[in-house]
Amino acid sequence: MSEELRPQDPIHAPTGTRRSCKTWDAEAALRMLMNNLDDRVAVDWKNLIVYGGTGRAARNWKEYHRIVAALKSLAPDETLCIQSGKPVYIAKTDQEAPRVILANSNLVPAWATPEEFDRLDRMGLMMYGQMTAGSWIYIGTQGILQGTYETFAAIAKQAFKTESLCGKWILTAGMGGMSGAQPVAATMNEAVILDVEVRPERIERKVKEGYCDRMTDRLDEALEWIGTACRIGQPLSIGLVGNAGEVYPELVRRGRIPDIVTDQTPAHDLLSYVPIGDVAELDRLRERDPKAYRQKSLDTIARHAGAILAMQSAGAVAVDYGNNLRAQAADAGVPVQNPDGSFKYPGFVPAYIRPLFCEGKGPFRWAALSGDPKDIHRIDRALKGAFPKDRALKRWVDLAQRKIPFTGLPARICWLGYGDRAKFGLVINDLVRKGEVKGPIVIGRDHLDCGSVASPYRETEGMDDGSDAVGDWPLLNFALNAISGASWVSFHHGGGVGMGNSLHAGMVIVADGTKRRAQRLERVLTVDPGIGVARHVDAGYDLARQTAQKKKIKIPKK
Ligand code: NAD
Repeated sequence: MSEELRPQDPIHAPTGTRRSCKTWDAEAALRMLMNNLDDRVAVDWKNLIVYGGTGRAARNWKEYHRIVAALKSLAPDETLCIQSGKPVYIAKTDQEAPRVILANSNLVPAWATPEEFDRLDRMGLMMYGQMTAGSWIYIGTQGILQGTYETFAAIAKQAFKTESLCGKWILTAGMGGMSGAQPVAATMNEAVILDVEVRPERIERKVKEGYCDRMTDRLDEALEWIGTACRIGQPLSIGLVGNAGEVYPELVRRGRIPDIVTDQTPAHDLLSYVPIGDVAELDRLRERDPKAYRQKSLDTIARHAGAILAMQSAGAVAVDYGNNLRAQAADAGVPVQNPDGSFKYPGFVPAYIRPLFCEGKGPFRWAALSGDPKDIHRIDRALKGAFPKDRALKRWVDLAQRKIPFTGLPARICWLGYGDRAKFGLVINDLVRKGEVKGPIVIGRDHLDCGSVASPYRETEGMDDGSDAVGDWPLLNFALNAISGASWVSFHHGGGVGMGNSLHAGMVIVADGTKRRAQRLERVLTVDPGIGVARHVDAGYDLARQTAQKKKIKIPKK
């Protein structure tokens, strides 16, 4: 993979207020691309892998350097087109048009299989963009943290009728880019969590970053810690070195049933999931014989998901955490489905997140291009001031300030809904204009959002009107954000749940403090969640209808 062109030293985005590009939009794209590949942010920067199995920021090192050069020379009325991590065209467009358009991992539907994608990837014709890896708005593990925190909080309320998970324990697996948010999200809810991770260095990294409290490679020791912490009601996160396909069934065998069971291994991609066995040997097998490796992954997934079902039968609350483990388990012959085809345990979106989508809420985020953490703290204060009655938001911001270390460019995630995103975008732009923050602020979101994704095993699982697999919505979202003046827009395939299973769009807009930008911010941050509310109105959700009425969102009359 053009390894000789790999930089000698780890990449860090430039900071400060001097730019090397002709516009702040291009500069922001450059800094966020580099931030995605910062060694403190990406799980494997040397191979350009940001998170989520093999989610990459650029196709290879040669294309990375070409993107950087293209961004540096990009004129204020030009748009750079990126095809699966490779710059392919600089179009003369308009000053108000996006500076970059990215299309990643898209395949014609009948060809949209993992095998075809892997073939094209090996030929150097494509790359996997995941969601925010290939669209340059990954902000490290924090990016999923609030969603995970809210999901655990919702489980506490729905399943245990309490506000806290104090004295309860959660079993999960995976401690990589996104999955690494689980330990701290659990302890923020006062729970005890056992997170099984096959690569010790991944746990070490999260302990060092402050996301996880302790690690061990002994199950007995972990169980002892869990017992004590649950008894005294002490929040505790434990990383256990092991394979979920071995540890989960062993816990069933011992009758040690957690209160909540989930998992966030990269099961969406059988070549990223790690089967039982020696990791180094398996790495060689993946190269030599991908088909045999895939079969081994399926065998391990069968044990892993079989144990989740057994734990559910024994009383644990089971939830799928967005990695397609259930569908892979079904392929492996595990009876994970009901006779009507629905899954025996729910995905986290239909179970806990969809009501938020009906209000246009989603993982809104911003990053400080100045590199100064004080900018984020200033915006935190403005956030609490802008929504003084929102107690959950205040609690989140206070916890985030205390518990979340910044990695790479300082950033903040905060789920905001229709109306509030546009309002807050303008607040941020004003702070830039008045010089209360040191530089422009990048505003964006995950592709996992209310109107930007079609994903029948995740975001659109079990839609009321059966429209789970309708892919028109993310396309509408993509086009709306492009014509409304986002700084860069993206359209991807296969994020979260793997090839053939999802289509999704991303948007980023830079608050540069100008008046003109205020108009674009208001437009983009309104229509982006607006099409999300419309999507849920169309599918028949009452809450979405109420949101549309209350917020005067125009839905054509029936
Ligand atoms: P990652 O590749 O950065 O980390 C996954 C970790 O799982 C790795 O550290 C890997 O060593 C470990 N692992 C693999 N197989 C294992 C096994 N059998 N037992 C124990 N550990 C194992 O990926 P990520 O960014 O953490 O994402 C994980 C999954 O979550 C992906 O499928 C991704 O698509 C999905 N995802 C979900 C959401 C969401 O909102 N729910 C968001 C982003 C990603």
